[in-house]
Amino acid sequence: MERQFPLLEIHMPHLRQNMETVIGKCTQRNIRVCGVIKGCSGMPEVANLFRQCGCSELGSSRIEEIIRCREAGIPGPYLLLRIPMISELEDVIQNCDTSLQSDAMVLDALEAACCRLEKTHRVIMMVDLGDLREGFWNRDEFVNACVYVEKNLPHVHLAGIGVNLGCYGSIQPTQDKMKNLLTIAHHVEARIGRELEVISGGASSSYTLVHWGTMPEGINHLRLGECMLNARDLQVEWGIRNMNLHMDSFVLKGEVIEVRTKPSYPVGQIVIDAFGRRPTYVDRGNRKRCILGFGRADVGDMERLQPHDEGVIVLGGSSDHCILDIENCPRKLKPGDIMEFSLSYNNMLYATSRTDVPRKFIYE
Ligand SMILES: *Cc1c(COP(=O)(O)O)cnc(C)c1O
Repeated sequence: MERQFPLLEIHMPHLRQNMETVIGKCTQRNIRVCGVIKGCSGMPEVANLFRQCGCSELGSSRIEEIIRCREAGIPGPYLLLRIPMISELEDVIQNCDTSLQSDAMVLDALEAACCRLEKTHRVIMMVDLGDLREGFWNRDEFVNACVYVEKNLPHVHLAGIGVNLGCYGSIQPTQDKMKNLLTIAHHVEARIGRELEVISGGASSSYTLVHWGTMPEGINHLRLGECMLNARDLQVEWGIRNMNLHMDSFVLKGEVIEVRTKPSYPVGQIVIDAFGRRPTYVDRGNRKRCILGFGRADVGDMERLQPHDEGVIVLGGSSDHCILDIENCPRKLKPGDIMEFSLSYNNMLYATSRTDVPRKFIYE
């Protein structure tokens, strides 16, 4: 048995247009794009489209996704985005051409593993400019570590340096942050006596600078996923108007399983919900609502779903129920009806990682 709903539809022409727009703009400014596939769980079909649209490289935080794409015949090179665990270094060397690195001990272990396997491996050294996730914090320590890789680790090739912003600390990539990165790159280059191949300015949030035409010259690499797959964060959360990117490449269809008018405020003593949280509820009086046959286990944060029907509010739900307020929805919904939603990054991540959410690729 395979359930028919929720059904995940992937609209390839919209994805292609997004990729062509974003990669085209980056290429014009001499920026190579690593197409990041982890948001859609490394779907080979999407990886393939990234390559067709001009990505010079594919990236994921997970080696398993890279292996799956390689087995599907999608040509690399592949970049490992999550700084690796020492326990997985041999797999990194065997399957990834390049990895991000931020720890001297791991780099020594990487050199040792390369020696065991008689292979070489490329690294991009990460510096932290305020977002407080991965990366060296002290600038001298960072430059010394780059020199150390160059001079002391014969099997590890220093391909370049990079930064990550807008992930943990929500820090905006600005021209100043990018200039900072370039200054650090020049220090490294002065010490090693050659140019770095890669100066990697960040993820989708750094694409803003390319869009505005303010990315400083010298940043020659970005690692981009969300801005092409969902294209929601910059256009909706940042409110950038003229990007012309489709936000409906990933659509989830769910089936209605109950329609009823109920109070909007729970009745009785409020404790915790199914996930141990204490949500707040708005009392809007009696409202018409419906339940769909999927839930948080399928799509993560349901509140981030974008309903295609007007007048619909996603109220929440639990692992396997999604509850909507449809009081102001002009469609007369009943059990068995199908409703559509565009997905945010979070929703896409969950929906694509489940094997029991059927997928349909739409090519026209
Ligand atoms: C996930 C990730 C990216 C891509 O992020 P998007 O927001 O999808 O563009 C880039 N770099 C690193 C280090 C990442 O972990």
